Amino acid sequence: MPELPDLEIYKENLKSKILNKKIIGASVLKPQVLKQLSASNFNRKTVGKTVKNIERQGKFLVFNFSSKEKMVIHLMLYGQLQWVKTTEKKSADACLILEFKDNSLRFVDGTAWMKVTFDSKEIDKVGLEPLSVEFTKEKLQKILKKKRLGNVKERLVDQKLIAGIGNAYVDEILWKARIHPARVASLLKNNEIKSLYQAIPKILREAVGEVRKRLKGEVSGEPRDFLAIHRKKECPQCGAKIKRIELNKKGTYFCPSCQK
Ligand SMILES: [Zn+2]
Repeated sequence: MPELPDLEIYKENLKSKILNKKIIGASVLKPQVLKQLSASNFNRKTVGKTVKNIERQGKFLVFNFSSKEKMVIHLMLYGQLQWVKTTEKKSADACLILEFKDNSLRFVDGTAWMKVTFDSKEIDKVGLEPLSVEFTKEKLQKILKKKRLGNVKERLVDQKLIAGIGNAYVDEILWKARIHPARVASLLKNNEIKSLYQAIPKILREAVGEVRKRLKGEVSGEPRDFLAIHRKKECPQCGAKIKRIELNKKGTYFCPSCQK
């Protein structure tokens, strides 16, 4: 699943391709991806309109239309956006298409789990943005101490608390902060919260730069080769063998010697 750095670059690259360009056609091939939205309404809300701005909120992409309406997209596990020549053959996995003058934006998902809606209440539930000025040590502390029980990994990937961190980047962040993923969040010490507070934006900002280099203007892809710990074999810090455990039913990677 794409996480904050991936989505941040999709946003950047989409903006350079579609902003202020007129949508001349729309197709709904798999209507099940539309939520609270009929195919005819999707067409009516998009055709003849332009996208004025694109934002990322947590793991959502938000297209702000000239009509003042907002289209909210969640790619879920397998969804992808593809920017192609309109004449290019459609894959059987295409769910939605927005057609521009020569190119089209295709919403592709073999599982059709991606979600597209014009109902913006979905984004009202998104938690604190870790790269915004609102992200303070005090707020992070509050999030960690919110419940007495529950591990720190679980707390950091809760989209209603902090936005955009998923299973890959949480491993990187906890490794950077030298905290074991299964530690009880509410019992972290002050200096550990401080390390975590520094690691979160550092890891995410660096990743945004790495993803930008690798996607080269594309609007899909999840480059992970530059990560230090997630799905890796050896800790780049100490050389120890990286351990994989199941935590909250998700594969979790950590260094048993660096992370306590
Ligand atoms: Zn290590």
